[in-house]
Amino acid sequence: MFTPAFIGLSANLPSSYGPPEKNLDMALKILGEKSKIAAVSPRYLTSPLGVKEQMPDFLNQVIKIYWADTARGLLDMLLETENRLERVRPGDKDGPAARTIDLDLLLFGKEIWNLPELTVPHPRMFGRAFVLVPLLDIWSEDDEIPGQGRAAEFLQNALNALTWSLDNRYIVQDN
Ligand code: AMP
Repeated sequence: MFTPAFIGLSANLPSSYGPPEKNLDMALKILGEKSKIAAVSPRYLTSPLGVKEQMPDFLNQVIKIYWADTARGLLDMLLETENRLERVRPGDKDGPAARTIDLDLLLFGKEIWNLPELTVPHPRMFGRAFVLVPLLDIWSEDDEIPGQGRAAEFLQNALNALTWSLDNRYIVQDN
């Protein structure tokens, strides 16, 4: 049985594959080999949110896949893909750190998980314009958020509650 899942991709550092754009290309290639990719959003450049030090803008994208295994199996595959793309995790992380690639499991069918190693729906997705904008780009009437009847409206309301702007695929969020 296949479960529809949404994945958030972001990158703001080069790897040995090339600039952040290439890291997203590589991530899509690997994910395409391991799952069936059903929808791919445009890419948005995003000013870093909630960071103290200077860092490059992020390139963000959301995709929908069909996955044949469990949510944990998918998360393991995402972590493995991050490692392949040279993701380094600073031990003393204080706010978002710059990274070659970040793969977040946003939604996994109608499943809800509240474990430290697996929280789905992703706990911060509804407060991030750089997730909600590309997610709405590829959202279809069949897609679901657990516990939300009219899910597209729910996503739009979440986005409307944020202070953000979009200019030529560049997203700036104030809070
Ligand atoms: P990050 O540094 O933001 O990539 O966080 C990775 C850690 O968060 C991993 O240890 C995951 O097990 C955990 N985690 C919990 N829920 C999720 C999720 N929905 N998507 C990605 N990572 C998650």
